[in-house]
Amino acid sequence: MNTQNKNNNTVDDTKYSMETHLIYGKNVTKKWDYSHHVLPPISSSIIYRLDSVERGAEGFIEFANSPITGEDPMPIYIYDRLGEPNKDILEENLAYTERGEMAVTFATGMGAISALMGILTKSGDEIIAHHTLYGCTYSLFTSWYPRYNIKVNLVDLTDSKNILTVLSEKTKVVYFETPSNPNLDIIDIVSLREIVDKINEQRPEADKIKIVVDNTFATPFCQRPIELGANFSIDSLTKGLGGFGTDMGGVVIGKMKYRDMLLLFRKDFGAVLNNKSAWNVITYGLPTLSIRIQKQIQSAQKIAEYLNNQNKVEFVNYPGLSNYKYYETAKKQMIDFNGNFSPGSLIYFVLKGKNAIESKENAKKFMNYAAKNAYTMTLAVSLGHTRTLIEHPASMTHSMVPIDKLSEYKIDPGGIRLAAGLENVDDIISDLDKCLNIV
Ligand SMILES: *Cc1c(COP(=O)(O)O)cnc(C)c1O
Repeated sequence: MNTQNKNNNTVDDTKYSMETHLIYGKNVTKKWDYSHHVLPPISSSIIYRLDSVERGAEGFIEFANSPITGEDPMPIYIYDRLGEPNKDILEENLAYTERGEMAVTFATGMGAISALMGILTKSGDEIIAHHTLYGCTYSLFTSWYPRYNIKVNLVDLTDSKNILTVLSEKTKVVYFETPSNPNLDIIDIVSLREIVDKINEQRPEADKIKIVVDNTFATPFCQRPIELGANFSIDSLTKGLGGFGTDMGGVVIGKMKYRDMLLLFRKDFGAVLNNKSAWNVITYGLPTLSIRIQKQIQSAQKIAEYLNNQNKVEFVNYPGLSNYKYYETAKKQMIDFNGNFSPGSLIYFVLKGKNAIESKENAKKFMNYAAKNAYTMTLAVSLGHTRTLIEHPASMTHSMVPIDKLSEYKIDPGGIRLAAGLENVDDIISDLDKCLNIV
């Protein structure tokens, strides 16, 4: 990406770090004259004045007709659902942050997931997915896709070879989260890429299997799946990228050749990101991403180590714990912009109990006590917030997973998900201590 300074001289931005890029984005963009605005204005118009019928016609021809290489021409804006400046600016910056050629934003993370799967599959196709998924993704795959005759095979992808057990000629997509929601399974992206490449050797271009990674838990600060071999990376902007819990959004990042299909899907299915939400991510989310996630990782590491030493805790899943089953894989792929190991801000832990029922009762007691008595922990879904959030996946975010499937997917009845916020970590640990004491 070449950026320009205020005098329109080309600046060689390759010398600057990503932390700096996240603040400045593209200094000059054809999407807006932001060489003179320090921050881009909130663009709050749904429609755009056209000087002539010919300009209108040209705009419709240009829409979703991206040049495969080189920079976009200055767009002719027509109607918000087709495109408008705030989303376009955000997309330029998100593509760069995730190391993709293009990004297309959506109203929510689920909007992004359903759009990408919508352009990659059709009736008769099959998807292979890791069996532990965010609850709504699980529900999309298992309640809706059968109606469209799209079969989703759920397997344990922590062992990459397992894709071979359900692979068929109809397989079009391998889909997973790493770390997975809620239990932080880590899936080896490089190893899956190697296996999929071998399978793809035998296939014509149109039938090649695509690897899709939901990067929401890691955020691009901790992991860039495309650099590791994924075809697409998806993020919920609602979580760590937005960072303040004020707006919903989602994004798909990948190769330029998929941009037009995604834009057309977004236009017709309609999950368009609100321009004001796009502006919040440009103005607050991205410029503070590094500093927020760094602080959350520091806290999460300390909290995980603390929990790991408590005798009321059965086990702790955190990619930064050296005794964690997936520690080595995490160390390979969860790397920040400067090459440091970045195990993320989420922790999953299970309280002891004589059996699953007692463990679940203890988790409930713990969380109900926290909801009333902990100043630094809020019982709420979501993650990547300024506040530390705890929740009970089995009864909240993952309540759509059938009870008899919970143990197969390693979602413990007594499992607790903690998303580190920005509080002083000693305060969080002292609140955790209080809550553990009453169990
Ligand atoms: C929250 C979440 C989503 C969905 O994002 P929304 O913005 O809530 O639609 C998708 N994947 C993961 C891993 C999530 O945590």
